[in-house]
Amino acid sequence: MKDETICLHAGYDPEDGGPGVMPIVQSTTYRFKSTEHIGDLFNMPTECMYSRFANPTVDAVEKKIAELEGGVAALCTTSGQSASLFSILNLCSAGDSFISTSTIYGGTVNLFAVTLKKFGIECIFVDSEATEEELQAAVKPNTKAVFGETLANPALSVFDIEKFAKFAHKNNIPLIVDNTFATPILCKPIEYGADIVVHSTSKYMDGHALQIGGVIVDSGNFDWTNGKFPEFTEPDESYHGIVYTESFGNMAYAVKARMQLMRDIGAYPAANSAFLLNLGLETLAVRMDRYCENAMKVAEYFEKSDKILSVAYPGLPGDKYHELAKKYLPKGTSGVISIRIKGGKAAAVRFMDALELASKEVHVADIRTCVLHPATATHRQLTDEQLIACGVDPGMIRVSVGLENVDDIIADLDKALACV
Ligand SMILES: *Cc1c(COP(=O)(O)O)cnc(C)c1O
Repeated sequence: MKDETICLHAGYDPEDGGPGVMPIVQSTTYRFKSTEHIGDLFNMPTECMYSRFANPTVDAVEKKIAELEGGVAALCTTSGQSASLFSILNLCSAGDSFISTSTIYGGTVNLFAVTLKKFGIECIFVDSEATEEELQAAVKPNTKAVFGETLANPALSVFDIEKFAKFAHKNNIPLIVDNTFATPILCKPIEYGADIVVHSTSKYMDGHALQIGGVIVDSGNFDWTNGKFPEFTEPDESYHGIVYTESFGNMAYAVKARMQLMRDIGAYPAANSAFLLNLGLETLAVRMDRYCENAMKVAEYFEKSDKILSVAYPGLPGDKYHELAKKYLPKGTSGVISIRIKGGKAAAVRFMDALELASKEVHVADIRTCVLHPATATHRQLTDEQLIACGVDPGMIRVSVGLENVDDIIADLDKALACV
């Protein structure tokens, strides 16, 4: 099936006379007729038996997202942050390291550089434009994964997925890609060699700014038996000796994340959240089309304005990442644009405060147009060096173009720019 159809039909197959829409299964537990049945479930721990790690409503959404990304299984989480955290913890223990490009979401930089460090896991940051030799120099014997972001928030650089997949696979380690801004509608990283895909579903997937969520998708393609990942190939004593690769084949990564991390930590969404996420997913393909169309017009408007120093939008032919965008994001480069206004921070604040339609909020990829000043908001915990490394200029404004009529959006921007 094509994306539009998957968005509407995948994940839930109503029984004869059953509800047409996946219902909200609002229950912590599931009742079984026999003790033996419950015992059996512990041999097949992907079944719903307790809503800390599995629930039918969430399961339907997981199947839909896995299909959209072209993966074999997915695991929903309560936030994008917990999806990124689990994606690493499923591979790295204290004493391990992993590599990440520095052009990633500020919250992820913090998670990787500060919090995971306290867990004894080292993140080695590399430049996304590093040469093969430079990348290879960052690899240590304990390096377990490579991480990057398809369309970086907020730098809007395009990640060269194939280059990094080749590098990761040469070192027998998987590539994890945060595909939040692109969504599987604009780019499917697994087709270019990514092994694991993560998302903040709080953004375009939910689409309506209703609830925070995340998801991890397992491509099923990585060979965990290559000797570098004994946790996948040796008995898990915390799970009566299960060997993940033997019992779960190409779903080993997804099942292990659920049965070790979700079982022990429990960052699993409520059924009601999954229901709302599903509503967003149903229209994702249609919405992404319009976001791209509107944002392209707004980017062209900014490019012509003499109040603007620079516009970052990979869809624009003059953009630094346009060639990579043509390859990885041929249908469009989402609704997010980064601009730098002449006059720096003070002008940025004046412009933002003059907006009436576009809202000032700590969000992005909303259905409504919104703006944010990363250096004083989402990225304020980063040092100046870290800001520059992840592509955030102190005068940068992130404009998230919504689904209002584009003429109204531009009129609002135009009136506000006139105040600068
Ligand atoms: C927002 C975001 C996250 C974090 O997701 P939350 O749902 O806010 O926890 C991770 N990666 C990217 C690219 C994001 O935009």
